[in-house]
Amino acid sequence: MRITVLAGGVGGARFTRGLLHHLRADGVTGKEVTVTIVVNTGDDLWLNGLRVCPDLDTVMYTLGGGIDEDQGWGRADESRRVASEIEKYGRGWPWFLLGDLDLATHVVRTDLLHQGRTLSDATDLLCRRWRPDARLLPMSDQPVETRVRLAAGVDEHAAGETIHFEEWWVRYRARVPAAGFVQDGVASAEPAPGVLEAIHDADLVILPPSNPVVSIGMILGVPGIRDAVRAASAPVVGVSPIIGGAAVRGMAGACLRTIGVEPSATAVAEHYGARSAAGLLDAWLVDDVDAGSVPVLEAAGIRSAARPLWMRDVPTTAAIAAEVLQISASV
Ligand code: GDP
Ligand code: CA
Repeated sequence: MRITVLAGGVGGARFTRGLLHHLRADGVTGKEVTVTIVVNTGDDLWLNGLRVCPDLDTVMYTLGGGIDEDQGWGRADESRRVASEIEKYGRGWPWFLLGDLDLATHVVRTDLLHQGRTLSDATDLLCRRWRPDARLLPMSDQPVETRVRLAAGVDEHAAGETIHFEEWWVRYRARVPAAGFVQDGVASAEPAPGVLEAIHDADLVILPPSNPVVSIGMILGVPGIRDAVRAASAPVVGVSPIIGGAAVRGMAGACLRTIGVEPSATAVAEHYGARSAAGLLDAWLVDDVDAGSVPVLEAAGIRSAARPLWMRDVPTTAAIAAEVLQISASV
């Protein structure tokens, strides 16, 4: 059995860890299951001369056992000696934290890229250390940068200018009004090797509770990927990242409002759309508090169910993954 997950950082990583926990428990499926994760690279950036891939690293560290659990990203037992030295030179982004252990990953990746290796190759090589028990694929080997068009000026930036997504997200906590998101470089980008095959050959495609706009939306924006999901022979099942009208952790609400989608479990599912109506979803899980959206979505052609969707720890997340497998069998 082959499962393909389209993931951003923290939400996608935690979900996939629960999925693997569920699948690896004895006798769950009785089959050998391989998991491929297509990861958003829209957040990637050059910082202090290093290539940083926030979502790939969050997935790799989470599945490889190196993540800072409380924070959800970065390395456990981290220190910041190098970053504080760089700050003394007044270089880089002081609000974007690069820990010492994390820096080693960026140094190795940058070295590989400078040797002419692709991001896919570099990711493979980094994963040889972390052994995530799943195949990690960047959405594209070409840089496709998520930029935010500002609706109002802030600091040195004028209204109408675009800034890197991470600057809007981390420096401004998504509080500066945005007019929209741009995928810089997307027109000439291709899905990374293996991405379209992983979707085409899958027995199940999962849209985990990742940010629907700046994580999953950016993956779907790479030419060919949205069509591949729509054409997949496998069921496509999504898990709502919105519980009771709010993003569970973080600021996804601001992203949704920017593209004119209400932050609700129903509106996000409608935004993805039913596959029967030229959309992406066969099935969708909402949290128990959003049970009211089940009949609405069923009427729209999306098989839906309400279940507890808080990823409190690995076992509760594994239970969510089990529900995904179960509902996928009913479509
Ligand atoms: P990022 O790239 O680190 O922002 O991570 P993702 O895009 O993969 O996921 C972020 C989203 O995960 C947030 O916007 C939340 O809506 C969602 N999320 C985080 N924790 C939970 C949880 O416990 N349950 C559910 N259903 N969604 C969650
Ligand atoms: Ca991200």
